[in-house]
Amino acid sequence: MERIKFSNQVDVSRIVHGVWRLSEWNMSKQDVIGLVEHCLALGIDTFDHADIYGNYSCEELFGNALADQPALNNRLKIITKCGIKLLSDKKPEHYIKHYDTGYDHIIASAENSLRYLKRDQIDVLLIHRPDPFMNPYETARAFSDLRDSGKVKEFGVSNFMPSQFSMLQSYLDFFLVTNQVELSPVTLDNFENGVIDQCLEQRFSPMAWSPLGGGSIFTAQTHRILTIKNVLHKIADQLNCSIDQLMYAWLMAHPSKIIPIVGTGKLERITKAAEAMNIQLSRQQWFEIWVAAQGVSVP
Ligand code: NAP
Repeated sequence: MERIKFSNQVDVSRIVHGVWRLSEWNMSKQDVIGLVEHCLALGIDTFDHADIYGNYSCEELFGNALADQPALNNRLKIITKCGIKLLSDKKPEHYIKHYDTGYDHIIASAENSLRYLKRDQIDVLLIHRPDPFMNPYETARAFSDLRDSGKVKEFGVSNFMPSQFSMLQSYLDFFLVTNQVELSPVTLDNFENGVIDQCLEQRFSPMAWSPLGGGSIFTAQTHRILTIKNVLHKIADQLNCSIDQLMYAWLMAHPSKIIPIVGTGKLERITKAAEAMNIQLSRQQWFEIWVAAQGVSVP
């Protein structure tokens, strides 16, 4: 599978597997190992986590499953996130959901992630959401210390607008490597608000979360979703693929080299995602999906 070079230190598979929903999949340790091995066999070696996934449980579930398999764990690239503080029975000190991108929280969160994931290094640590109370001196100092100690190789952000990305970048003496944002044929905002323009300008690849609209394309019954789905089915028939594969292919066709994060726990659906690498859309097919999602022709 194609690789995306984030830096001289880190490259990731063109398709990443996301484990946000891992705690809902009721997987045994052996099932998690099976999932990881299945992904590796397809060339997907990069896994997207966050400290908060599964009410602060997914990193630990994943790490515990790999506890007796350090060689397998070492083959993986791990992306994780920090900066959101959830209301949770595990965090009785939080009385309101809020953000914390301060020095102490970033360091503590990264160290917890390493402990839960049973690793010595995180490949990429992302700030999960832009923080209106961010002190970028502190965030940058935490990044630098984690990098100098070898605990985290590279850093990025998630859900940042271009001005927020540039602001944080200006406090760092190394490059942020990605912005992980919502991108799919059902959510076009980040194509139009400057986020993708910034990726192209600064030459880094965006990561796309909820590439299938969080599953809404399969379940939602709104006029807009049904219109998009009809067009997806028409083009999928032409290309001899399924609509989930077409949605991944539509993202990967974009010149910014979007990295879709596959969110399904079903092995056969992960295989189909990997096969989507080989689907080539014409420019007009790409625009048919764009126009269906916009609801109007391009001007
Ligand atoms: P998604 O692929 O858009 O949605 C996954 C959902 O679609 C699952 O419920 C899945 O169910 C369902 N699905 C997939 N293929 C299907 C099919 N062929 N037919 C019917 N249902 C299907 O991705 P996502 O899970 O929302 O997000 C992917 C990853 O992005 C997450 O794991 C996480 O790592 C990351 N993420 C990041 C942020 C952020 O703020 N940075 C936010 C959200 C997510 P099954 O499991 O049953 O297949």
